[in-house]
Amino acid sequence: MLYYDLNYLLYIAPAILLGLIAQIWVKSAFNKYSKVRARSGLTGRDAARAILDRNGLYNVDVRPIPGELTDHFDPRTNVISLSTPVFGSNSIAAIGVAAHEAGHAVQHQTGYWFIKVRTAIIPVCNIGASISPLLIILGFALSWIELYWLGIILFGTVAVFQLVTLPVEFNASRRAIAILEANGTLTYDELKGARAVLSAAALTYVAALVTSLLQLFYFLSLSNRRR
Ligand SMILES: [Zn+2]
Repeated sequence: MLYYDLNYLLYIAPAILLGLIAQIWVKSAFNKYSKVRARSGLTGRDAARAILDRNGLYNVDVRPIPGELTDHFDPRTNVISLSTPVFGSNSIAAIGVAAHEAGHAVQHQTGYWFIKVRTAIIPVCNIGASISPLLIILGFALSWIELYWLGIILFGTVAVFQLVTLPVEFNASRRAIAILEANGTLTYDELKGARAVLSAAALTYVAALVTSLLQLFYFLSLSNRRR
């Protein structure tokens, strides 16, 4: 089994590397632009609130949440959670991240196709993510081919989820930048900083997809080796 484990490491090493680069890049971009105050003086909370109100999303709440880069929008509760360094900060990075999360709320409001698909497949993907590796390994070990392929298909839904996540994330960032520009919340130079933070954040989603795809290739390679 060690032989396969070493093989596994070889398969996912590029993804681990890409993931690390993405993490370092997003942290450094965020740190850099979280030290640059935006001239508008708005905080992350203010920026998100302004975008929500402008789109009539008065029912969406903006709340602080502990941690770093923990920012997210929950469509079930209609709450945008902004991490402490974003919520009360008036930096370019904070405004960029807050506007991105508000962009997700606007996606839901406008019925953006990819976010509807993403929300719809979440339950299957959660099952897939938790049990598929076990099914694949068991199916492989017991030479139970149906179990193995069920695991592969379930694992595939995780990759599909991450694939659908990409347009959702890129679109939220594009919306954020366009709104910040149109509203004059950030100046031309400040927008560059916000864009740098959001591009770095997008790479972490690309890294997650690459990781899943390489894992899938590894799992598929098991079926060849059995013969
Ligand atoms: Zn996002």
